[in-house]
Amino acid sequence: MAARLLDGSAVARQIRAEMRPDIEAFTARAGRPPGIALVLVGSNAASELYVGSKLKSAGESGLRADLERLPATASLDDLLRLVDRLNRSELHDGILVQSPLPPAMGSHAERRVFDAIAPGKDVDGFNPINVGRLVQGRAGLVACTPSGVIEILERSNIAIAGARAVVIGRSDIVGKPMALLLLHRHATVTICHSRTTDLPRVAREADILVAALGRPAFVTPDFVKPGATVVDVGTSRVEDPALVARLFPAGSRRREAFERRGALVLGDVHPDVEQVAGALTPVPGGVGPLTIAMLLKNTVRAAEDRFA
Ligand code: NAP
Repeated sequence: MAARLLDGSAVARQIRAEMRPDIEAFTARAGRPPGIALVLVGSNAASELYVGSKLKSAGESGLRADLERLPATASLDDLLRLVDRLNRSELHDGILVQSPLPPAMGSHAERRVFDAIAPGKDVDGFNPINVGRLVQGRAGLVACTPSGVIEILERSNIAIAGARAVVIGRSDIVGKPMALLLLHRHATVTICHSRTTDLPRVAREADILVAALGRPAFVTPDFVKPGATVVDVGTSRVEDPALVARLFPAGSRRREAFERRGALVLGDVHPDVEQVAGALTPVPGGVGPLTIAMLLKNTVRAAEDRFA
C-alpha cells in the first residue's frame, strides 16, 4: 500500500494562518510589523530563489522583509559590519544570512557570521547561544528546518515519544538539531553519517527516519521498516537525464517535468520508498515550505521577545 503523503504546504499554510493574530497584535502594539532582514552575498542562483521565496512569504504574512545585498567580492569584514548594523536596527527583529557564502570569504566565514548575529535576532537558530539553549531543552530560537519537521510530525499525529528515530546526517543546521528535538520529545535517537557502518540496517530500526544527506534518492526501500514514517529533508537539483530515467518511468509526471525544464529537485528518498513507508514527506511540498513558515514564526517570536 502506498504511504500516506504528509502535505508540508498545507501545514505551512496552517502555521501562517495561526500566526496572523499575533502579527496583527504586535503591529498594533509596536506601531510597526515584525521585521526580518535577509542578507544575500553574491548572486548564487539557488540562493536567489530561496531568498525570493522567503521575502514573498514574509510579505504575504504581513511582516516587513528587507533584502540587503552585498557583492560577491565583499569581504568577511564587510559582511560582519552589515550584521553589526542590523543587530542595532530598530526595524529588524530577525536577521538571516543566506548560505552558502562565497568561498573567497574563507572556510570559517559562516561560523564567524553566526557567532556575530545577536542571539535575540538569530531567527535561523545557528548562534552558539541558541544552540546551547536547544541542547539544554530551553525555549529559544531553534533551527527552522528541524523545527518544521517536528511540526509536521506532531500535526500528522505521528507518535514521537517512545519511537525509535534515526537521523541520517549530522550537520549543525539540520541533523544535530533534528536529533535533539526528537530526543527532547522522548524518541530514542540514533544519528548516522558517512562513517556509519551498515547504514541500511541501522535505518531499518527506525519508526521515524529522517534523511538529511543531500544525496538524491539515496534512501532506498531496504533502508525502511515497513510502515515507518520517512521525512525527506534533502533538496538536490538534478540535471542528469540518466539518473532521472532510472528513477521515473517514461510518461510519468516527474519525468515529463524533467523533459520540459531540464532539471528536477529531488529529495534523498528513492521514489520506491512510497511502497514501503507508512507516511512520507514529498519533495517538493514537504519540508521545504515548513522551513519558511518556521522562519516567519521565529521572526514573530523574536519581535515579541524584544518588546516583552
Ligand atoms: P551537509 O552539511 O552537507 O551534511 C550532510 C550530512 O549527510 C553529513 O553529516 C554527512 O556525513 C551525511 N552524509 C553524506 N553522505 C552520506 C552517506 N553516503 N551516508 C551517510 N551519511 C552521509 O548538508 P545539510 O546542510 O545538513 O543538508 C542536507 C540536505 O538537506 C541537503 O540536500 C540540503 O539541500 C537539504 N536542506 C533542505 C532544507 C529544506 O528546507 N528542505 C533546509 C536545509 C537543508 P559526514 O558528517 O560524515 O560528512
